[in-house]
Amino acid sequence: MQTGKCSIAIDGPAGAGKSSVARLLAKRLGFLHIDTGALYRALTLEVLRNSVKPTDAQEVAKIAEQANIEITPGSEGIRVLLNGEDVTKAIREPMVSENVSLVAQHPEVREYLLVLQRQLAADGGTVMDGRDIGTVVLPEADLKIFLTASAEERARRRMKELRAQGYKVTYKDVLLSIRARDNLDAERLVAPLRAATDAVPVDTTGKDVDTVVEEILGHLSTVGGLDGCSTEQ
Ligand code: C5P
Repeated sequence: MQTGKCSIAIDGPAGAGKSSVARLLAKRLGFLHIDTGALYRALTLEVLRNSVKPTDAQEVAKIAEQANIEITPGSEGIRVLLNGEDVTKAIREPMVSENVSLVAQHPEVREYLLVLQRQLAADGGTVMDGRDIGTVVLPEADLKIFLTASAEERARRRMKELRAQGYKVTYKDVLLSIRARDNLDAERLVAPLRAATDAVPVDTTGKDVDTVVEEILGHLSTVGGLDGCSTEQ
């Protein structure tokens, strides 16, 4: 990695605002945003399309080996391609959200996507968001942020997003689904959701995206700003 080519890791639970914050932060810095949840979601979509059980480690691993998942920058954020097809919208469907943590728990899946994620971040100049970026994927990231928000606030945000997309969901169901995903993500054996010891915690409850991005830019300057980034990844 070259001086100034920082890598920033943003982790946290579902609905903490990672993707929106990472997208805007990347735009402000002229960096590439890599939403790693989108990779797990694309794989989950392929698993469901092939009628494979998300809990079947062997079959899911086969799908992972065969699937070609790519992410490319688009005018409205990143686009996700699955075997060449644009699945940016399809991966946000509730069916995918309900099954993604089951797919993500398999060590074979994590190993496969670990390689892909490191390739995507290899040149630096990246803001990568997920669950295990600061702990596993980019342990040498120049700045690590752990975003949190109350489960109730996260459920309200998700409900708004889903309703805007035309889904008829209740607050109670969204809250239950968020809590179920939190538990699966935090309790899985491989690369569970947790803050790296050197991550900066940022609570987004009651804050808008701009405020959170400003806060993170403040933390970036305390590690020396863009010029303070390490020269090796
Ligand atoms: O970030 P998003 O909510 O889209 O992620 C979907 C799911 O993908 C998470 O709930 C988690 O199970 C999985 N995931 C993961 N590790 C990552 C990113 C996402 O296990 N780095």
